Amino acid sequence: MNNHSPQNNTFMKKIGIVLFSLVFVASSFAQAKQGHTNQNKFRQLKQELPTPNAERTASGAPGKNYTQQRVDYIMDIVLDDEKSTITGSETITYHNNSADDLEYLWLQLDQNMRAADSKTPDIQPNKVPSKLSKSRFKNTYTESAFDGGFKIMSVTNADGSKLSHTINQTMMRINLPKPLASGNTFKFKMDWWYNINNHKIEGLRSGYELFEENGNKNYVIAQFYPRMCVYDNVEGWQNEQFWGRSEFALEFGDYTVNITTPDDHMLGATGILKNESEVLTKKEQKRLAIARITFDNPVIIRTQEEAKKIEKGNSKKTKTWKFFAKNVRDYAFATSRKFIWDGMAVDINGKTVMAYSLYSKEANPLYGDHSTRAVAQTLKTYSKYTFDYPYHKAISVDGQMGMEYPQICFNPGRPDADGTYSDKVKYRMIKVTIHEVGHNFFPMIVNSDERQWTWMDEGLNSYMEMLAELEYDKNFPITRGYPKNIVSYMSGNQDKIAPIMTKGDNVYNFGSNAYGKPATALWILRETIMGKDLFDHAFRTYSQRWMFKHPSPADFFRTMEDASGIDLDWFWRGWFYTTDVSDIGIKSVKKYQTNSVDNSVEFIEDTSEGLGFSKKDENSKFYYEITYNKPGGLVMPIIVEFTYKDGTTERKTYPAQIWRYNDAEITKVFSSSKEIKSIKLDPDLETADVDTSNNSFPKDKTDQFDQFKKKIKG
Ligand SMILES: [Zn+2]
Repeated sequence: MNNHSPQNNTFMKKIGIVLFSLVFVASSFAQAKQGHTNQNKFRQLKQELPTPNAERTASGAPGKNYTQQRVDYIMDIVLDDEKSTITGSETITYHNNSADDLEYLWLQLDQNMRAADSKTPDIQPNKVPSKLSKSRFKNTYTESAFDGGFKIMSVTNADGSKLSHTINQTMMRINLPKPLASGNTFKFKMDWWYNINNHKIEGLRSGYELFEENGNKNYVIAQFYPRMCVYDNVEGWQNEQFWGRSEFALEFGDYTVNITTPDDHMLGATGILKNESEVLTKKEQKRLAIARITFDNPVIIRTQEEAKKIEKGNSKKTKTWKFFAKNVRDYAFATSRKFIWDGMAVDINGKTVMAYSLYSKEANPLYGDHSTRAVAQTLKTYSKYTFDYPYHKAISVDGQMGMEYPQICFNPGRPDADGTYSDKVKYRMIKVTIHEVGHNFFPMIVNSDERQWTWMDEGLNSYMEMLAELEYDKNFPITRGYPKNIVSYMSGNQDKIAPIMTKGDNVYNFGSNAYGKPATALWILRETIMGKDLFDHAFRTYSQRWMFKHPSPADFFRTMEDASGIDLDWFWRGWFYTTDVSDIGIKSVKKYQTNSVDNSVEFIEDTSEGLGFSKKDENSKFYYEITYNKPGGLVMPIIVEFTYKDGTTERKTYPAQIWRYNDAEITKVFSSSKEIKSIKLDPDLETADVDTSNNSFPKDKTDQFDQFKKKIKG
């Protein structure tokens, strides 16, 4: 309440003094009593989450005033294979659907991160390494920096007149001739080109791989055109610089894209190919038609033998691939003389979606064996838990990195020269393929802001990836997501750990922070805290509410609670806003039997060592008063397994709320008709408990030995 009227000022001042004194007295009283302000771990996230409004509701759903911008692109792209350059002519139609008038527009010039004067290398602290590969040494210390920045040739209005603009590193501001009113559209044109980098040397998400054998290049091209920034009611313009790590925030729109390549190239891209008969051979068209009705096995559309023959040539002629993509947030393509192509049909609730792979002979037979099948599995599993995959295809490209775009992604994995491959290589390739194809759902469709919140796409996707991996192969070697796998990260040096709710550019251990820990958190919610049915319903609700929209963290947190009827503020607070660890132990156990005296029952303590009773009363049950302590900061359920003397076991789970009165230790009585031999906490390692040496009573020798070994190893 900030609207004091002036005439009431003196009165209000007096009232204010009285109120202040009262509040002061009350709060000192509370402090004297509690010793601290309200730090209860079950308090609601009122201060952390934004106030709900008519755009984003308190239930976590988009509200009736929810809007988002829309951007349509028409692009003519020319790839010069000799010079390794890409040239583009781009028309952008920007639809201002927001309630605001805009004075300027912001674009992302991601390629400028590779410009010769890029600031990205300058913010990277480094030391002299003990060894570097010759190519990396040359690249880092002896050659002038590679210049892969955008060369902007022109920026014009629709009528061809010059349009004022300002470039700030990886961002570009279009200075509008007059403000763009709410509900209006602005159309402008840009011409540009840049040098394509060799991503095997320069690294990162886009570029070419050079094959020394015959000078061929596999191009995987992305972030290749100036892209509109997101404007919304959460960030305003999302125009934080692209440093290379925290990814992208993009609007949906339609893309009409013509890509000119050498005429012996095979190309895959976002969108529907409109001129199949111009760019594919008769044979390829025939095989493609068969693939479109083949649901059990991939059908080869361009064979290895054909690709081997083609890669020996070097055609100077060109051809143009014409695509149209409806309602996508981005565009990418891959092209090479070397690509083998296979595909199969996938049935998604009665609708046919195509799973494709493009790969060089160096990636075969690994890709032929697994790539398209992994794509198909991903589409099936993710559709089951979120929504039916709405696009017509998903492509996996042998791109020797792991990176995702709408309908197309680039993946690693090559067999040895003799064509054999280890399980490790195989599972890694399948894992990354599932992960990158999975990104079609998060964030390509459930379109969160990657620049700000890495976990919203990587964390949710890493969780979903586990479900798809286990459906692909029930013995799949899951590397992250299981609670026990996150223990070493969470219990590590606290100076190098940030809460999940941290911008990706600013965290040390990116993989564990933004992928592993949030995936584990969701796994624990599903398996241990919410149960599969409630979790799956809430997760599906979130996915469907926000498909083709821009969710924020609050929308996710609120929907998960709203759709399940479970208050999870304590969980989000602990797992997402702090770096606390989970550690619950058994401090002590007292044991009792009863004795009836007149109208009351008397509890008699047996003070002997251990859990056994020195003397047993046939008429009494056994009562165990167990004190649990919590050296870890996280509040978590207490999962207890009681093993009886006869060898049978019984489980009891106390909800996390048992810690609401006392965060350090609680005491709880367990009664049974059989005598207990031993007690164990978290027997299936569900809670990411960082110290299991205090999990057993009597103390478990093997647990203590494990802890001892850990300490020795340091
Ligand atoms: Zn990812």
